[in-house]
Amino acid sequence: MAADAKAGFDAVARARTALQGFEPYDPAFTPSRINLSANENTHELPATFTAALRDAMVATPLNRYPDPMANELRDLLAERHGVERGSVMVGNGGDELLFNLFFTFGGAGHALITCPPDFSEYANFAKMCEMPVRSVWRDAETFDADADALVAAAQAEDAAMVVLTSPNNPTGNLADPALVRRLLDETNVLVLLDEAYVEFAGEDKSLVSWVAENPRLIVLRTFSKAFGLAGLRVGYLVADPAVVDMLGAIRQIYSEDVIAQSVACAAVARREELAPVVADIVAERALLAEGLAAIEGVKVWPSAGNFLLVRLAGASRVRARLRDEYSILVRDFSYAPGLNDCLRITVGTHDENAELLAAVTQLAREEA
Ligand code: PMP
Repeated sequence: MAADAKAGFDAVARARTALQGFEPYDPAFTPSRINLSANENTHELPATFTAALRDAMVATPLNRYPDPMANELRDLLAERHGVERGSVMVGNGGDELLFNLFFTFGGAGHALITCPPDFSEYANFAKMCEMPVRSVWRDAETFDADADALVAAAQAEDAAMVVLTSPNNPTGNLADPALVRRLLDETNVLVLLDEAYVEFAGEDKSLVSWVAENPRLIVLRTFSKAFGLAGLRVGYLVADPAVVDMLGAIRQIYSEDVIAQSVACAAVARREELAPVVADIVAERALLAEGLAAIEGVKVWPSAGNFLLVRLAGASRVRARLRDEYSILVRDFSYAPGLNDCLRITVGTHDENAELLAAVTQLAREEA
């Protein structure tokens, strides 16, 4: 009988041991007027840019399999960064590349070193890949990485990879190039520099040009943030061709679909049209930071990304009330170690930020 068959079935017990604690990722977003919770680009993109992307989408036949290596897109990205095609790997969002990196270079006896508070998926994906995770905590006040401790951790015999996020999500710090230099010179690990948000810091803050001389450096980028294409699912990395070949060998061959490839190509070709959007977000970031810092009881950290980390009394309640009373979504980090009473707020449009500021001003007063 069906009921008996169900009673004895335990999928979790049958799963790979390393995966048994994991649950489906469902952020259960409440539909909201203003969503500043996921570090997306909420600005309207130039009409010429969106029209070119739409044309690319409509012109793409769907009956053929995609190019598994996304070579046209790799060529455009290679040209953009002044490297060869063989140094670029494309993935279904930066997330897929992170997972594939840990799957390839991790595993028992190959540890990942992270600098929390940082992007929580690093630890999640690494654990799925049975890669031990070592945390070198950032300074509790400034959130700067602890350079000496990080270098020491990376010198451990089983250390395989260090991940540094620049700018760091959710704290906004840039990685110090001198620290990246030390990791390359004083250790033997792979150095993964996650530059998902680097456009908001300025392209001159990217260390992608270092890859040519440093085969252990891997730089991750994405179309999800500055490009405004989080829904398209395209990320890429620039690395030594031998690293790229390993990733090419293990990847799900058709993970980058035909629409994603053709739209991303159009976006790279027209990327200069996005400069005013990025400049506007950077200007709005300064205004929003100033506005939030002026509210009594609110601490704001400086940020090089398109988001701000803030601390205020009753952060969790403030977040719930923003959602329920103002239909504004921000991300609650108050449960995360080192981030008590912290919220992360994506920089929105001028009007979105103004509404958020007015709401936080009111709520901070009431919750104080
Ligand atoms: N790295 C960091 C630091 C991120 O915050 C994100 C997205 N939130 C990613 C990588 C991955 O982004 P995506 O998969 O959308 O490219």
